Amino acid sequence: MKTCAIVGINWGDEGKGRMVDLITADYDVVIRYQGGGNAGHTVVNDYGKFALHLLPSGVFHSGVVNILGNGVALDAENLWREIEDVREKGVLITPENLKISDRASLLLPWHRRLDALEEARLGDKQYGSTKQGIAPFYSDKYQKKTILAGELFYPEVLRAHLADLLEWKNLTLTGVYGAAPCSMDELTAWITDFGEKIRPFICDTGKYLRAASAAGKNLLFEAQLGALRDLDYGIYPYTTSSNAIAAYAPVGSGLPSAKLDEVIGVVKAYSTCVGEGPFVCELFGNAADRLREAGGEYGAKTGRPRRVGPLDLVATRYGVQTQGATAIALTKLDVLSYLDEIPVCTQYEIHGEHTDRFPFPAALGMAKPVTQTLPGWACDISGVRRWADLPAAARRYVEYTEEAIGCHIRYVSVGPERDAIIMR
Ligand code: GDP
Repeated sequence: MKTCAIVGINWGDEGKGRMVDLITADYDVVIRYQGGGNAGHTVVNDYGKFALHLLPSGVFHSGVVNILGNGVALDAENLWREIEDVREKGVLITPENLKISDRASLLLPWHRRLDALEEARLGDKQYGSTKQGIAPFYSDKYQKKTILAGELFYPEVLRAHLADLLEWKNLTLTGVYGAAPCSMDELTAWITDFGEKIRPFICDTGKYLRAASAAGKNLLFEAQLGALRDLDYGIYPYTTSSNAIAAYAPVGSGLPSAKLDEVIGVVKAYSTCVGEGPFVCELFGNAADRLREAGGEYGAKTGRPRRVGPLDLVATRYGVQTQGATAIALTKLDVLSYLDEIPVCTQYEIHGEHTDRFPFPAALGMAKPVTQTLPGWACDISGVRRWADLPAAARRYVEYTEEAIGCHIRYVSVGPERDAIIMR
């Protein structure tokens, strides 16, 4: 058996989906262990182009079992829509290749409503939520006010549990936000509809994973977002509401005793950040527009233009350490081909002092980027498949990055397609 987690080193959108799709060829089971339908893992392969929100990115490989672990925010409505979309494009999704943990908690319709109500209340101080209900969902989970997927097999228990939650949640909807309450009929109709649809996929995935591990199967854990958005280690409060780091993979997947043999950290060759929060290396104006256009940097889930900047070595080194990465996949190197000189952020300046250390979140707003430039290669590299065939300046950029972040770059991605990869 081997175990590996594929995780984001930065703010998310690094290209994790693309790497999971590639690396799944060596694995038997792919498990999403946290986050919800706010992901947008883009995969381009023989079936077409997909932005997977909740489905694990291993669904395109026949014979691979995909699991939604207990740590995910199980949005049954969006999951079902996604299953239908993917099936329409010829991808097989059955209870044999998709299993949902009976211990995953259900994201309920009021979570999305509350997310939108709270962002509206915050006005110009909003967090930039994708409004998929993720923060209200995780708050409720930790208050023990959600429904476990497995309760769908116990209708009596479920009905009583829902009635209790409804009474409690309506206090917030009406009392705090002055919004309309939810009715039991509405809730029951939603659960009956989407609960029935996903029920065939729900099982004891912990049992399944223990058996798979005993049988020597290879397990791949897929993260959503990146280290800098991790609830405990990221740029709080501009984080997501769950732990995106590799260390959480065993807990959120259903195999808490698993040890990770490998952690592949995905780093984009430049920086992007969707939503609010401090982003020290941010570019503006023409330089930002050109980079955004070159990289097609618009949110896969929201279509929002992403904030862009040069590769931030301070943040990336912190991300590598936080994830415990054993190897790096550097993606989108081809996007930088238009630049004669490539800026990189090497340090931060805080109150006139230079530092290599990623600061405490509250100090990030005071940090200014210290940049230097590396020579560009000024030619298209998207067709290159061998390290030796990359222009010397592109190799230098990769080697420089590798040394600065302290982790071996094993994969260099030069296009979104599955085979647009250089192994080192
Ligand atoms: P994820 O959420 O980490 O999976 O990343 P996203 O899917 O949000 O963003 C990555 C985007 O970059 C997607 O549109 C991918 O198709 C694309 N992509 C991934 N790797 C490469 C690459 O090496 N070159 C180019 N040009 N695009 C890439």
